[in-house]
This record gives sequence, C-alpha cells and structure tokens, in this order.
Amino acid sequence: MTKEELWQAVLAQIQLNISQANFSTWFKDTGIVSYNEGQVQVSVPNSFAKEWLENKYGKTILKIVSGIDREIRDVKYVLGKSELKAVPRTASIESSAGQMEIEEFKIDKETNLNPKYTFDTFVVGPSNELAHAAAWAVANKPGLVYNPLFIYGGVGLGKTHLLQSIGNAVLKNFPNQKVRYIPAEKFTAGIVSSIKNHDVEAFKKKYRSIDVLILDDVQFLAGKEKTQEEFFHTFNTLYEDNKQIILSSDRPPKAIPALAERLRSRFEGGMIGDIGYPDYETRLAILKTKAQERALDFSDDVFDYLAVNIQKNIRELEGALNRLVAYQRANNKAPDLEIAKTLLKNILLSPSKVASPKKIIESVAAFYDLKEREILSISRKKEVVKPRQIAMYLLREELKSSYPFIGRKFGGKDHTTAIHACGKILKELETNENLSNEIVLIKQRIYTG
Ligand code: ADP
Ligand code: MG
Repeated sequence: MTKEELWQAVLAQIQLNISQANFSTWFKDTGIVSYNEGQVQVSVPNSFAKEWLENKYGKTILKIVSGIDREIRDVKYVLGKSELKAVPRTASIESSAGQMEIEEFKIDKETNLNPKYTFDTFVVGPSNELAHAAAWAVANKPGLVYNPLFIYGGVGLGKTHLLQSIGNAVLKNFPNQKVRYIPAEKFTAGIVSSIKNHDVEAFKKKYRSIDVLILDDVQFLAGKEKTQEEFFHTFNTLYEDNKQIILSSDRPPKAIPALAERLRSRFEGGMIGDIGYPDYETRLAILKTKAQERALDFSDDVFDYLAVNIQKNIRELEGALNRLVAYQRANNKAPDLEIAKTLLKNILLSPSKVASPKKIIESVAAFYDLKEREILSISRKKEVVKPRQIAMYLLREELKSSYPFIGRKFGGKDHTTAIHACGKILKELETNENLSNEIVLIKQRIYTG
C-alpha cells in the first residue's frame, strides 16, 4: 500500500465518524509524508490543525491506521504541505458565491425549515457536544428516544441551527414525516389570531397532525397563559401519540418565569441539553467552515484574531466574517490582519458589548432608580440593600470578580459580605421569578444600553 492509499483509507473511515464541517476544517490539506518502521508522519497545513489532530483525533487516527497496517505503532504530525487533496469538495461549495446566497433563503413554506441549517454545517465542540448528540439521536429515531428534547443556551450559540438540523435530517431520513418548525413567538401570534377569528379548532388540528414539532425560543411563552394552555394540550396529544417534540430556550425550564407548573414539568420530562460558550478551537473551526461555505479563505492570523476576540456569540463571529467577505468582494483581495483589525474595530471595541464594574453599577442603579453613590454606600436601607446585593452578584457572575474586590468596591466591605450577598441572590433566584426577570432586564441594560 502506498502512503497515499493508506491516507485515503484513513480519511474515508474518519469521514464516516465526524461531520462534514469538522472533516473539511481539520483534514483539508493533510497527507502522509513518510510511512515506515512502524511510524507514520502526517503533514498538516498549520499549527492549529496539528494541535487539534493530535489532541482530539489522535487516538482515533492511530486506531484506524493500525487497524489497516498492524506494524504501525505511532503517528506523528508535522507542519507541511501535501499535494493530496483530502477534501472532496461538495457541489454547493464549488458553486459560485452568488448562487449560494440565493440558496440560503429558500425556507420551505410548509415546514419553515431553512436547508442551510444541517448537521453537516454544524461544528461540534465541547460546548455543544451533548446537545448535538441528543439532537442527532432524535433525528434518527424521532419520537422514540428523548421526548421532549429541550435545548437551552445563550443568544447566538447555535440553538436554532441545531433544531433546524434535526428537522432537515428527519425529512431526509423519513420523507413521509410531517415536520414543522415554529418560533414560539409566531406560535403565540397564531393562537391570538385564531382566537380573534374564531377558528381555534382549525389551529389545533393543524398542529395535532404533526409528527415532529419544533418550537424555538419557548421563553417567549412566559406569562402568556392562553398560549401556554393551548400548547399544553397540543403537547399532550402529540406526546401520547409518540410524536417528537423539540424545544429550545435561552435558559433551562426552571428559570423561565411565569411558566405554568404543569408545562414546566412537561419540559423537564425528557432530555435537557445545554449549549455553552464555544472554546477557541470550536470558534476557529466554525469560522473556517463559514468561510468555506462562501468559498473564501483568509489567512490564519486573521481567523485567529476573530476567534480570540469574539467569544460569546457565534452570530457575531459570523457578522465579523461577513465584513471581511464584503471587503474581499469589493476589493478583490483578502484582507490581511491590519485591514481586518481596522474593519472590525467598531464591532470589537463597541463598549456597549462589554460589561465593566462601572457599567454594572450604573445599570443596577438606573434600574432601581437609585444614585450610584447610594449603591456604593454602606446604607442599610431596604430599598438600597437589595440592589446592592444584585450589583455584587452581577460583578461576580458577569466579570468573575473576586470577593475581596467586590467587597472593596462597595464601601470597603469585607469579602464575607460579598460572599453573603452573592449567595443570597443566588438562593433567591431559585424561587423568585420576579427577581430573575429583573436580572434579565438589568443585563440587557448592561450589554445593550
Ligand atoms: P441561537 O438560536 O442559539 O440564537 P443560531 O442557531 O441562530 O443561535 O446561531 C447563530 C449563527 O451561528 C447561525 O448562523 C449558525 O449557523 C451559527 N452557528 C452556531 N453554532 C454553530 C456551530 N456549532 N457550527 C456552525 N455554525 C454555528
Ligand atoms: Mg435562535
């Protein structure tokens, strides 16, 4: 077997085990440079890929290689170019950029699914591994494994993408299934208008004939009693028929305020998976996938710059990438690091996106109609004590400030005061829905005000 044949055989097996997006990102331009004396040297195009292959796929690769050739005991990764094209480029990647863009908006009227959100384009990392695994399982056995599946996570972290991927995969696996994706806000609007038009029955019927119902952003059901009631009945009908229900929210069911207890317990009755902030490698892989989808490539230092600087929202990461794409289209050349820095200055340095102690204290004070110095004072007045504790809690939660720092900030108090304050708020959040609402609103002020 030549080294080329060996590597092709390895790649073929790997491709079966990981998503197309991950495969293209990490195995593009890899190859075998030498193959003898029980050792294989694999060339990788850059140090990111090297680290990733060593740490994440090293074991798998060694297993596959030694499965093919028993003599091989060791795989080493070296930087270098390979002439071997590892990635069979898919048609959509090769089609011109213009066509891609038209394709992106072909949302199916019946299912509300956008074909661009698939498992193939979803990059898996430690932050979304479990949610992804659960989603994958559901897509292969709708109604039979986890019901309902409840995915939660912050804004722009891939919930909609994952939910839609399930829908698209179900349609591919079981073309006869009736799949419907709907944002909870739209569901609510539908109920309201059907009540107004006296055709609630038709509305109910429409939803009760579905095999896979995907309701996105269910936190919007908070406080909408009539919608919750209708949804509760729809839920039960589908559930009893072994129909699949998939839900997403920006927080776990427990933390959704004003949600009827019976609905909350339904939401908690199946599988709950969360999506966290992606780590650096995942951010980088996502960027590379998105660039590839647009048939563009940027230098590693540009990708690195984006991945280092945008950490908490993949939609923002994509927005930044779009700026670079626009630059490239307009100027017919890829932006280098200096240009990228200039282009992204507004996005990255926008002060409203970054929390600071000052911003937190300001926002809490404004929210409770207090003066900043009142919050920072040692006053024991009840209307000041609680906002002060909330401010301390937010400093801890949002900025990971140390307790001694927080204590000093608030009138030179001891760190035990800060620990007490944070603990108290945390405990109260478990039962007090109003408080959690207030904190959500305060955070909005901090980050967008
Ligand atoms: P959410 O619904 O959680 O607010 P979205 O699903 O809309 O977030 O994701 C925001 C953007 O980030 C989308 O364009 C999506 O394709 C992209 N994205 C998020 N997570 C991933 C991922 N793991 N791999 C590839 N793209 C992702
Ligand atoms: Mg979403």
